[in-house]
Amino acid sequence: MIRLYCATGNPGKLREFRLAAGTAPVEIDLLPGFEDIPPCVEDGATFEENAVIKARHYGEAAGTGKGAGHARPLLFADDSGLEVDALGGAPGVLSARYCGRHGDDLANNRLLIEKLRGVENRTARFVCAIALVEGADVRGVYRGAVEGVIVDQPRGAGGFGYDPHFYYPPFGCTFGEAGAERKFSVSHRGQALRTMLAALTGPCGAG
Ligand code: IMP
Repeated sequence: MIRLYCATGNPGKLREFRLAAGTAPVEIDLLPGFEDIPPCVEDGATFEENAVIKARHYGEAAGTGKGAGHARPLLFADDSGLEVDALGGAPGVLSARYCGRHGDDLANNRLLIEKLRGVENRTARFVCAIALVEGADVRGVYRGAVEGVIVDQPRGAGGFGYDPHFYYPPFGCTFGEAGAERKFSVSHRGQALRTMLAALTGPCGAG
């Protein structure tokens, strides 16, 4: 069993990651003492850069004893967002704060739909990058992406963020309607996590 720490203060995210891990021989825990570690500035230009910035920041802090109580715990952090083709890839790395305030999902969604008024091309994708570190050393960066279409009317109360506006054609519904388990079977975050787990538990992994 491989113990992995997730650098997030969000228990909802942890639940999602555990769900995606399924029966893989890993135990995923929140990084102990996460709240005591000052947050870092996520100023990377890509999801991958931001995931690495975050993971190294928490990996270093955990190594100083503020975190997992282990000198070099295996730890991962993720960065994710929505890329809309007609908006040149926006909101991209700014997804959480598209409207100017961090985490205001309603205002972010409103702004997105406003920007797409009269625009025919609605193709978009969710992207997730996960960086795995041991202390401050990067062990790997894993990416997942899922293609969909932005719809004007929000549908479904499940999920979070842009989910109610993200229509996924193979399901015939939005991610807001799909349910957590179904969403995770195809989502960007689920894909990235499973790729990391395959690398970790495969023949060349940490064993
Ligand atoms: P973060 O990776 O937690 O920083 O998330 C970035 C932002 O991207 C979130 O606040 C959401 O607005 C958006 N986002 C990322 N993943 C998803 C998803 O699975 N569904 C809906 N919105 C998402």
